[in-house]
Amino acid sequence: MYLKNSKTIVIKIGSSLLIDEKKIIRKKWLSEFAKDIKELLNDKKNVIIVSSGAIALGCKKLNLSKKNLKLDKSQAIASIGQIELMNLFKKTFSIKKINLSQILLTLEDTEQRRRAINAKRTFENLFKLNFVPIVNENDSIATSEIKYGDNDRLASRVAQISNADCLILLSDVEGLYTKNPKIHKDAKLIKEIKNLGSDIEEIATKSIGEHGTGGMKTKIDAAKVCQLSGCVMSIADGLSMRPIKKIFKKNTCTWFLPKISKLDARKKWIISSISPKGELIIDDGAINALKKGKSLLAAGIKNVNGKFNKGDHIKILDKNMTEYARGLSSFTSDEISKIKGHHSNKINELLGYVTKSEVIHKDDMVEI
Ligand code: GLU
Repeated sequence: MYLKNSKTIVIKIGSSLLIDEKKIIRKKWLSEFAKDIKELLNDKKNVIIVSSGAIALGCKKLNLSKKNLKLDKSQAIASIGQIELMNLFKKTFSIKKINLSQILLTLEDTEQRRRAINAKRTFENLFKLNFVPIVNENDSIATSEIKYGDNDRLASRVAQISNADCLILLSDVEGLYTKNPKIHKDAKLIKEIKNLGSDIEEIATKSIGEHGTGGMKTKIDAAKVCQLSGCVMSIADGLSMRPIKKIFKKNTCTWFLPKISKLDARKKWIISSISPKGELIIDDGAINALKKGKSLLAAGIKNVNGKFNKGDHIKILDKNMTEYARGLSSFTSDEISKIKGHHSNKINELLGYVTKSEVIHKDDMVEI
């Protein structure tokens, strides 16, 4: 089963799961959901929650209607509501002894390679520290041109950059049906989708959506991102208590299967970059370390060619100038010139500031 086999899981919850139509916070639901998260953590899984609700909670606090809100006003309201949202999570999850952190993202954070790599590292470190990041769009800063616009698409990008195995979009529908189930009695829940063809898009356009920003269209867009990231995605009913347990037990949801493996997706993402910006020439010891799946450290670097930035795509050559691998550099070319040949524990002293220890992390490297 997809969920069981996943190590890193992103779960997106829409505003309608947290606040009902009468603007009452669904506290009981959230505390049941916390039990689901606790079980995933006990199972040694990494969990990221993408939660909407900042604008809805801000409106609740100010006694305003969400309808017809102008962008500048909704930005202020999101800033008021985000702290309410986190308070709600904190109060509820601390009872289950779940540690939470907050990450607010803007579109560029996932679209720009360097920022996406930074975000990925932050997620990894939070997992190591045993914290569950709660992600939302930075609605107070984002304007319409630079917005994801909905948390379905945001969640798919989060799944992509965090290298997640599975994304669950908890919604107020059970999944994608062959027809609108409210009108057609013979409508069937589609269990698995491998190919996102025009037939599926058509069903999605006609199908009933949730109250949130997205509807079915944005969920299909999210599925497209996941399919090319090697991540399985599901649209599942979030309204019931213990929605994750329900997926484990009953599996009544729609699964979208990836088109390529996670590793291939990541390699493609690394290799797909426009021409490499520079080269590192490394010694035999470093080549052997890379062959064993280790990261590239400064000590094994003999020379650096070209001018590049952090996050840029570079070539790794052996001493005979034969290309061995490609990767994304964690340092600029100027920094590497200063630290090459030195032990990693000298880096902070040589540069004068605290930074990473690997020049190219093993996950950011692909052998040619
Ligand atoms: N980021 C928005 C919020 O927190 C929600 C966007 C959505 O509903 O998809 O209110």
